[in-house]
Amino acid sequence: MRRSAALVAVALLAALILAVVAPAPAAPPPRGAPRVDVPDTAPVRRIDGTPYVAVNDLARLLDATKFWKPELRKLALRTGRHAITLTVDDPFVVVDETTLWLGAPVRSLRGELQVPAALADSLPSDSALARLYYDARRDRVIRLPASGRIGTPTLTVANGTTRLTFPADRPDEALVVARSREHLRLRLGGLFTGVLPAPAGLLRDLRPIPSAIGSAFECAIAREAGGFRLVSDAAAHRVVLELTREALPGVEAFAPESAPGPRTVRVIVIDPGHGGDDPGVIAGGAVEKDLALALARLLRTEIESRMNARVVLTRDADRALTAEDRAEVANRARADLVVSLHFDGFPTAQARGATAYCAPATFVADARGDALRGGVSALLPWRDLPVRHAVQSRALAEAVLSALELRGEGPTRLRERMPYAMLGVNAPGMLLECAALTSPADRDRVTQDAGLRELAATIADGIQAWQRNQ
Ligand SMILES: [Zn+2]
Repeated sequence: MRRSAALVAVALLAALILAVVAPAPAAPPPRGAPRVDVPDTAPVRRIDGTPYVAVNDLARLLDATKFWKPELRKLALRTGRHAITLTVDDPFVVVDETTLWLGAPVRSLRGELQVPAALADSLPSDSALARLYYDARRDRVIRLPASGRIGTPTLTVANGTTRLTFPADRPDEALVVARSREHLRLRLGGLFTGVLPAPAGLLRDLRPIPSAIGSAFECAIAREAGGFRLVSDAAAHRVVLELTREALPGVEAFAPESAPGPRTVRVIVIDPGHGGDDPGVIAGGAVEKDLALALARLLRTEIESRMNARVVLTRDADRALTAEDRAEVANRARADLVVSLHFDGFPTAQARGATAYCAPATFVADARGDALRGGVSALLPWRDLPVRHAVQSRALAEAVLSALELRGEGPTRLRERMPYAMLGVNAPGMLLECAALTSPADRDRVTQDAGLRELAATIADGIQAWQRNQ
């Protein structure tokens, strides 16, 4: 007893010394992938082969209150303006005024009612009642998000076109969040409850990836594919990803690709926009220059905790810098990557989300062969610097916007237009308008500590994804 106590004391002492002497390990925060909200589910049990769900689980999923009438052996579940009346040993259930036949009776098992899971799919779908779905494949009942459900997609190959068709309750929420052949990413509204088909045709791989909202999928596309198109068909409740061999009109091109393998990122320059006598956007008490600096500091901490890179801020105080000053800091630090942080302002409160600006990666030369798409860059002597990094910059912008979309911090837009802050910078880079301060929703999010921290973590996710280049 005494001996073991002494051993414990020694071990504790050793641990204490280690804790004091050894530097705290820079453990990466436990968030490599976006958080995924686990849907509310309830288990299904089989009684005589019929799937049943316990009434307490049903009440929880529906957010309903139970009223038991023992003399009638009836239980009513009430939620919003809806009432569901169940009777023990009776296969009929009354939902509001409608009587439904469930194929099997409601049972009483050890004092708790068990309801045939078939009820889940028969409930009315309106905003006053949570939508339930009986997932027979995994024997569970799921409470669906407002955006509903994504079913099993079908894959067809015909005439050089490969079509991946997802049944979706909200096709209008579908979007492409990254568009390279290796990582074509789709985000769809709704919870995916289906099974993915084996790849075929121009689709080489298809897998689900985590997304904070809706469901996301990553596709790998064959080299010989010429373009893609995402078609949301609201009437038919489906979303179709079309992959074509030819770069047909109306078909989008894939993002330019870079050499495979991780990128070397030793120095990251973060450039908080504005400063000093230039406040940037001011809206509802939020000041762009202050938020940009606070975000830059958080982003520095995020990056340093998970990447082996030095982070340099163009300013770490409230002071004014010219574009040349910023470029000089970046070039002198030998930046491998520059991110200029800003917040947007719009004339309307409805406009929200993030916009990335990067040098145009695709050029249109005029007859003389010297004009570049992208406006200002054509006029300036150092235009070649950022343009040389355009493909990398575009990939960076895609990676960061994809991270924002997957975490529900969008909507996002990508503009291939030379950002003023990138002029003269000899590195891949982007200017990110992180959110709109003129949108109350965006402003509330980014002016709260947790919201700004989350934003920094998301941008770091994007930078890390770009660095890994997978
Ligand atoms: Zn700005």
